[in-house]
Order: sequence, then C-alpha cells, then structure tokens
Amino acid sequence: ARGIAPEANREDIKIEGSLRPQNLDSYIGQKKIKESLKIYIEAAKKRGDCLDHLLFYGPPGLGKTTLAGIIANEMGVHIKITSGPAIEKPGDMAAILNNLQEGDILFVDEIHRLNRQVEEVLYPAMEDYAIDIMIGKGPTARSIRLDLPHFTLIGATTRAGMLSAPLRDRFGMIHRMEFYDIDELCNIILQSAKLLDVEVDKGGAVEMARRSRGTPRLANRILKRVRDFAQVKFDGKVTGEVAMTALDLMDVDKMGLDHTDRNLLLTMINKFAGKPVGLDTLAAAIGEDPGTIEDVYEPYLIKNGFINRTPRGRVVTEIAYAHLGLENPVDTDI
Ligand code: ADP
Repeated sequence: ARGIAPEANREDIKIEGSLRPQNLDSYIGQKKIKESLKIYIEAAKKRGDCLDHLLFYGPPGLGKTTLAGIIANEMGVHIKITSGPAIEKPGDMAAILNNLQEGDILFVDEIHRLNRQVEEVLYPAMEDYAIDIMIGKGPTARSIRLDLPHFTLIGATTRAGMLSAPLRDRFGMIHRMEFYDIDELCNIILQSAKLLDVEVDKGGAVEMARRSRGTPRLANRILKRVRDFAQVKFDGKVTGEVAMTALDLMDVDKMGLDHTDRNLLLTMINKFAGKPVGLDTLAAAIGEDPGTIEDVYEPYLIKNGFINRTPRGRVVTEIAYAHLGLENPVDTDI
C-alpha cells in the first residue's frame, strides 16, 4: 500500500474529472499565478493571439492539469493532453503537433521525461510554429520545413531542474505551484463536498484540510474516504470527530504524514542516527525510488521543517523528533 501518496491513482482519475473546477474563479488558491494568467489571457484574447508557452512545476496533485484545462476554457480553445513518457518517437510528436487546430493548447505532463529526439521536434515548433522533416536517407537526405498552426504548449513537471536548458528557455512563463494553506484546502473540500453531495461541517473540513499535505488531490481523496466512513459508521455527516476517527484509522497523522513519511523520518533517526544521509542511501534503506522521495515525499517534509537539505545530505530536524514524540539524543552537528 502506498498510503496517501499524492500521485493520481485509478480511483482518483475516475472521480477527478467531476471535481475539477472549470474556470479561474472556482480555481482556489495559487493567487499569484491566477492574477498573472488573468492578464495574459485577456491580453492574448484582445490581440486575437494564442498564449505564450507556459511551464508549471511543483509536486504532484497541486492542480497543474486542472489549471491547463481552465486556461483552455478561458481561451475558448481545445486542449490535447499527453505526457512525456507517452511520446516515444519524433514522428509521434510531429503528428500530434500537426493535428492541432489554430490556437489549441497542447498539455504535456511530466515534460522532463521527453526523450532528446522528441524534445528537439519541439524547439522549432515552439519558436517558429514549424517542424523540420527529413526526407530520404544518406547523402540525398534533405529536410523540409512544415508550418504548424499557432498553438500554446503547457508543460508540467515535478522537477524544473530536470528540464534541459534549450527547452526551458522556450517557455515564456514559468510558474511554481505552491502548497495550499488550510483555508484554501477547506474551501476546496467544501466545494467538492457540494459536488459529491456530502454534508461536511466546518470542523470536519478543517480536520481533513490539516491532514491533506497542502495538496488538493489528497484533500479530495481524503474527503471521499471519510465520506464512506461517515456513511457506514455514522449518520453520513462529516464532523470534526468523524474526520478525526476516520483519518486515524487511515494512519494519516495530525500533520498529514502517512506511514511512508514516518518510516523515512524514523529511518533517518534510527539507522543513520540523525546524521546527514544521501538521497540514494536513504531510498535504498526504505525501499523507495529516489525520484519519488525527491518529488513526492520530500517537498512537504522540507516545507514543514521536518527535513533539511545540506551539502552533506538530508538531515532530520528537531521538529521531526518532536513530531514523532522522540528525544533528540545527539547534537546533529551540521
Ligand atoms: P497535478 O496535475 O498538479 O498533478 P491536478 O490538476 O490533476 O494536479 O489536480 C488534482 C485534483 O485536485 C483535481 O482533480 C482537482 O479536482 C483538484 N484541484 C487541484 N487544484 C485545485 C484548485 N486550485 N482548486 C480546486 N480544486 C483543485
């Protein structure tokens, strides 16, 4: 079991469509991004032009795909959704681009996972709305340039640092998605509760928001699980007490940490005596993929001060010891 890891699972995909806000006003939080998008969208519409290429980065479940869909709605254009690993050959990318209509949005999730040859198709496409196609082989080979419709590429990635410089430089706007605060998560939960027709009181919303790791996808997932619990064990209404009982059963603690998070912290404490530890060593010790630790678990732990990154490795902090109810036996000597 993966606990409540914020990557989308099959159950999420089934229901997320129905919970996705459709316009900027019902997209909660991310104020800075929303404000600049509003201006860019209005300006592009006035000029009758498409938006500049956009890159969103940040941990999974923070609303990158949702925002891309909203931008398409607000611009009144189609969106084609794909992902880096799904496009294997340059020809596949060329075909996707060639099938877009004027003004369309192409959304590429996990864009850092595009392979080099496929990525190279994007350079002239993003810059000049054109692709270069090679015809023939050997000494008679030549390339011809094919014009494309004007389009907007929206890339999403958990790791901006993994993007090659030539790709990154071709985005007009790069936005970092932030974790959501408790108020914003409460609003998301109440908005989703209305759509799912679940009764949730303020106390219930706050309790679920606190344990959602700043992540809307988790907030929605927790809401669905707690709703089931409330229907079976209580009268269906989600109060603070119902939410607390359900979440304790789900092994999600007061800060939203699940067993993988706690295992990670406890391993740093017990196996490595609170000393700095490298990402790969830590990953091997808990049997997780280093990339998953870096993209999925660590950002929230770092944001809340449970872990620090130092040049010598990750170190677990006093806050983590306190949260786990442990005494810090040694001076961590950083
Ligand atoms: P990402 O693409 O960053 O992994 P998604 O866009 O798939 O995340 O968001 C996951 C779910 O969280 C969506 O189904 C949506 O219902 C919800 N969500 C995300 N951001 C928001 C938001 N700002 N307001 C309301 N709901 C949101």
